[in-house]
Amino acid sequence: MATPPARSRRTSLLSTGELDRARVLDTLVNNLDGMAYRCLLDASWRMIFVSQGCLTLTGYRPDQLVDNATVAWESITHPQDSARVRSVISAAVRQGQRFAVEYRILTQGGLTKWVIERGIGVADERGELVVEGFIEDVTEQHSLLEAREQAERRYREIFEHASEGIFQTTADGHYLAANPALARIYGYASPEALMAGLHDIDRRLYVRSGQRERFQQIMTQHGAVLNFESEVYRQDGTSIWISENAHAVRDPQGQLLYYEGTVQDISERRSYQEQLERQANHDALTGLPNRNLLGDRVEQGIARAARLGYNLAVVFIDLDNFKFINDSLGHDAGDELLKEVARRLGHCVRGSDTVARLGGDEFVLLLTDHYQSTTVISQLRRVLEEVSRPLHLVGREFQINASLGVALYPQDGEAAASLLKHADAAMYAAKDRGRNTFQFFTSELNREADERLNLENALRQTIEQNALEVHYQPKVDHRRRIVGLEALVRWTHPVYGAIRPDRFIPIAEETGLIVPLTHAVLRDALAAAAEWNRLRATPLHMAVNLSPRLFYSGDIVAQVSDLLAQTGFPADLLELEITENVFIGDSDRAVQTLHQLKELGVLLAMDDFGTGYSSLSYLRRLPLDIIKIDRSLVTGLEHEEDVAMIARAVISLGQSLRKVIVAEGVENQAQFDFLRYQGCNEFQGYLLSRPLSHADMTRLLEAGSALPGPAQPNSGFAPLR
Ligand code: C2E
Ligand code: MG
Ligand code: MG
Repeated sequence: MATPPARSRRTSLLSTGELDRARVLDTLVNNLDGMAYRCLLDASWRMIFVSQGCLTLTGYRPDQLVDNATVAWESITHPQDSARVRSVISAAVRQGQRFAVEYRILTQGGLTKWVIERGIGVADERGELVVEGFIEDVTEQHSLLEAREQAERRYREIFEHASEGIFQTTADGHYLAANPALARIYGYASPEALMAGLHDIDRRLYVRSGQRERFQQIMTQHGAVLNFESEVYRQDGTSIWISENAHAVRDPQGQLLYYEGTVQDISERRSYQEQLERQANHDALTGLPNRNLLGDRVEQGIARAARLGYNLAVVFIDLDNFKFINDSLGHDAGDELLKEVARRLGHCVRGSDTVARLGGDEFVLLLTDHYQSTTVISQLRRVLEEVSRPLHLVGREFQINASLGVALYPQDGEAAASLLKHADAAMYAAKDRGRNTFQFFTSELNREADERLNLENALRQTIEQNALEVHYQPKVDHRRRIVGLEALVRWTHPVYGAIRPDRFIPIAEETGLIVPLTHAVLRDALAAAAEWNRLRATPLHMAVNLSPRLFYSGDIVAQVSDLLAQTGFPADLLELEITENVFIGDSDRAVQTLHQLKELGVLLAMDDFGTGYSSLSYLRRLPLDIIKIDRSLVTGLEHEEDVAMIARAVISLGQSLRKVIVAEGVENQAQFDFLRYQGCNEFQGYLLSRPLSHADMTRLLEAGSALPGPAQPNSGFAPLR
C-alpha cells in the first residue's frame, strides 16, 4: 500500500493521545465507497492526499494522482464540466462555505462516471489554503434519475403532442387532466382553459342527455369504454362527433379514483357516413327517400299498424303526360317539374307519412295512422288538387295531372312487396279510367269512394242552394208539456231520397262542409223558435247539435254570437249539444271554446251521455247545464236490469252535479215512467213525438202545449226550470 507523503507529514504532527482517532479516521476513509482527498487550489487541482477509494473510483492508484505523478484531477474532470466545477468550488472557498457539485469524470479505463464532490476550503498545517473533501460515484443513481426523467419526458411528449385528446376525469364530471389536443377538439384555447371552463360534463358536453350516464354504466359493467360515439358541444356552442376510449383507474382497495382515456374527433367520418347513407337511401334529384328506404318505411309502417290496429295506405303516383313535357321542353324543365311535384306532395302528407320517388315520374306515398279507409280519400283528393295546380316552367304556365293507385293494409296485402305491387296495379286502373283520378285496389272501395264523391258533391250543392231542411223534435217535462225542441238536419236527395244524418254528417265533417251546414241549421232553428215563441207565454228552448269538428276549424263562437245578435234570440234559450268526442283532439282548446260559448249566455248540453269515453272528471270541469242520457241507456231498460241500473246511476250522478237531465229515445210508457220516477227532468223520443217538419211543428204547437198521453198522476217531481 502506497503511503502518500502528505499522510506521513500529517501523522508526525499528531500527539500520542490523538493517534487512535487518526487511525479510526484512516480506516473509515479508506473503506468508504468513494475517495477522500486534499488538494491545492491550483490550475490542475494537484492532489496532496487521496484515499484508497481512488482506485475504484478513477482506475488510478493513489500514488499516480498525488502531486500529479501520472495524472492531474483537472484532466480527470470531464472537459465539459471542469469550468463549472472550478467556479462552484472557488466561490464556496472564497465565502468559507461547504460545497457540493455533481459532474463527470473520465476514468483510467476510458469510462465516464458521474460523481458528487462535497468539500470545504481549509487552511493546512502551514496555514496554506487547501481543499478537503470526498468524491463518490453516483453514476448509478444518476442514470436511474436520468432514465426516469427521460421516460417522463417521453410520456409528456406523447401527452402534449398526441393528435388524440387525452383526459382524466372524476366520476362526478370534473377534469383532472387534459392535453392540448383535447382542448383543441373541444374548442378551448388551452388545456387549462378547458379544465377551468368545463364542469358538469353530463350537461355541458354531451348533446344527448343521459349520455354520461350511459358512459358510466358501460364503465361499471366492463371497467372500460370502447369506441363510445357521442355528439358533443364545443366551447362556441357548435357540435361535433367524438369517439371515446377510456378505462377506470382504481386504488389498491378497488375504490374508483378517476377515468382516463382518449377522445377522437370523428365528425368528418360521421358526415361522410351520413352522406353515403343519404346517397344510398335518397333520390339525388328530389332528395326524397328512394325505393330502398321506402321498403323499410313500409315494413315499419306495417309493424306499427299491426300493433295498433291502424290502416296503412300505399299510394302509387304516376304523372300524366310527363314524357311529353320532358321530351318537348328538355330534361332540365322535366327535372324542375319533378322537384316541384316532390315539394307539393310533401305538403299533402303529415309528419309521420312518407313521400318517396321510385324514379322517372313515379312517386309513392305511404300514409300511416288512419283509423278508417274513408279518411284516406280526402287526402287523395288533396294530392290530385295540389299536383294539378298550375306551375311555371321555362316562362310558361303548365298543368300536370296525376293518376293514383291505392293499396290498403291489411285488406290489400300484408307485406311491403304485395302492397306496392297492388298499388301499382290500381294506378294503371286509374290511368285507364281517364287519368287525374285515384283507384283503390279493392273494387268495393272504389264503389264506395265514387258514392262518397257523389254524395259530397250533392251535399255541397244542397248547402249552396240552401236546400237542407231542419226538423224539430219536442222535449217535454214530466207532465208532457213541451219545454224545448231539438233541431235535426234533414237532407232529401233527388235520386237517393232521404239520407240519414249519420251518413252525411261524417262527410260534412271531413270536407269542412260542416261549417256552412251548422250555420244553416242554427239560422233556421233560431228563426223558427223566435217565430213560435212570439205566441207563447213560456218560451221554448231550442237545441242545436254541434259537431266536434267545429271546435277545431272555423270560429264557432263568432258564428253563434253573430247569429244571436242578428236574430235577437235570447241566448239563454239556446242549447248547444256537444258530444264527448270533442275531447278526442286538443281537449284544452275544446274546453276553452266551451267556456267562450258559455260566456255568450247559452246553455251547454252533453249529448249521447254514457256512450263516449265518459271520463267523469270532465263533468265537473266543464260549464255544462244539461246531460242527455243516450238512447242506448233507455232502450230496453224496462226489460234489462243492468240497463236500468246504469240509467239510474247516470241520473243520480247528474242530479248530484245539479245538471238538468234529459232522456232521449223514449219509445214507450214504461221507459217514460221509470225515467220520470228516477228523477229525469225532460224526455224526448218517439213516444212523445217524432222529429217534425217546420209546418207540422207549427200545427202541433198551435194545438196546445201538452202532448197527448195517459192521465198524469201528480208525480211530485219539480221541474228544474
Ligand atoms: P242526436 O243529436 O242524438 O239526435 C237524436 C237522434 O235520435 C235523431 O236522429 C232523432 O231522430 C233520433 N231519435 C229521437 N227520438 C228517438 C226514438 O225514440 N227512437 C229512436 N230510435 N231514435 C230517436 P237523427 O235525426 O237521425 O240524427 C242523428 C244524429 O245526427 C244526431 O244525434 C246528431 O248527432 C246528428 N245530427 C242531426 N242533426 C244535426 C245537425 O244539425 N248538426 C250536427 N252536427 N249533427 C246533427
Ligand atoms: Mg242531439
Ligand atoms: Mg243524442
